Amino acid sequence: MNQRAYLDHNATAPLRPEVREAMSDALALVGNPSSVHAEGRAARAAVEEARVKVAALVHARPEDVIFTSGGTEANALALAPPAGGGAWKAFISSIEHPSVLAGGRFGAGARTVLPVTSAGLVDLESLARTLAEEVPEGSRPFVSLMAANNETGAVQPVAEAAAVVHEAGGVLHTDAVQVAGRLPLDMSALGADLLTLSAHKIGGPKGVGAVVMAEGASVQPLMTGGGQESRRRPGTENVAGIVGFGVAADLAAKELPAMGDVARLRDALEEGVRTIAPDAVVFAHSVARLPNTSLIAVPGLKAETLVIGLDLAGVSVSAGSACSSGKVETSHVLTAMGAAPEAARAAIRVSLGFRSCDNDIQSFLGAFGDLVKRLRKDEKAAA
Ligand code: PLP
Repeated sequence: MNQRAYLDHNATAPLRPEVREAMSDALALVGNPSSVHAEGRAARAAVEEARVKVAALVHARPEDVIFTSGGTEANALALAPPAGGGAWKAFISSIEHPSVLAGGRFGAGARTVLPVTSAGLVDLESLARTLAEEVPEGSRPFVSLMAANNETGAVQPVAEAAAVVHEAGGVLHTDAVQVAGRLPLDMSALGADLLTLSAHKIGGPKGVGAVVMAEGASVQPLMTGGGQESRRRPGTENVAGIVGFGVAADLAAKELPAMGDVARLRDALEEGVRTIAPDAVVFAHSVARLPNTSLIAVPGLKAETLVIGLDLAGVSVSAGSACSSGKVETSHVLTAMGAAPEAARAAIRVSLGFRSCDNDIQSFLGAFGDLVKRLRKDEKAAA
């Protein structure tokens, strides 16, 4: 049987063999990292070694890494009025992952959704204006702006936004789940106070993530009842998962230079798509994007039809539209960008990874070409 072409790395990346091996060893560790005996100390050492590696991926201090059960929990942990009191108002970009858009622990009236441009970038002028006009007297702004969007790949101007937010006396959180391992990440260069990571997008296990804090930043724990993670995230640590996250972070950081090859494959894919369907639209193509992501719509063709047809041909991609509930809905990202509803319904997301190769691109283009030809013929016959 021919190998399938897996081109859905923004949904999740395959577990790296080195990660699987390290996790299998870690599963054999007997101790609880909080125990003082030898077994406990061995488990603690494994967790702390991973913390150093995850911190290194974003150039942060290990003590500022808080392990969580994934990106969703990390976003929920980060999105709260910072410890220390005071009144806060949240500003959340309209293209955030649903776990951020949900608004965390800010009251419904205490948050505003920020618009994006038609290219899918947060509008910095509008951000500055909104902060000047909408932060009530005596309150401070908490802004959440993702480092890059999971559907379009558009890289957001986080450092510039952080300067605006800090000027207004606020705090900036960035969801960097899709940027980790794809572009260099540096907490200080980004100016982020809080940053979210998820292990399974970089070849680590599902169900592990982290909030990384800048020096001096704080979070309000979501749960109480345990002293783990310096009292910021109680519960016995997922030792094997955290070890896997550490190994994945280490490898992802080392492989960053290879992302240039991934970008070349992605560009070849887009060129091939335009040859097959010259009217195809590539969203956010005019701005800096993640090297691995392409969100494509062919006018008149439905995303579900393409995703199912490609799957039958051995190629895995996603509908650009949100479908976490199993039901395809119009993408809130494309809606925020002002895309026409038909274009939004047609969008498929192709996302490459560290293992993607030329054969994957050829498999995609072969299957995509056949489908477009067939579906357009059907369309003509029905007209
Ligand atoms: N943030 C972004 C941008 C994502 O793409 C995802 C996953 O799709 C998450 C957060 C959630 O991460 P997790 O699956 O680890 O909960």
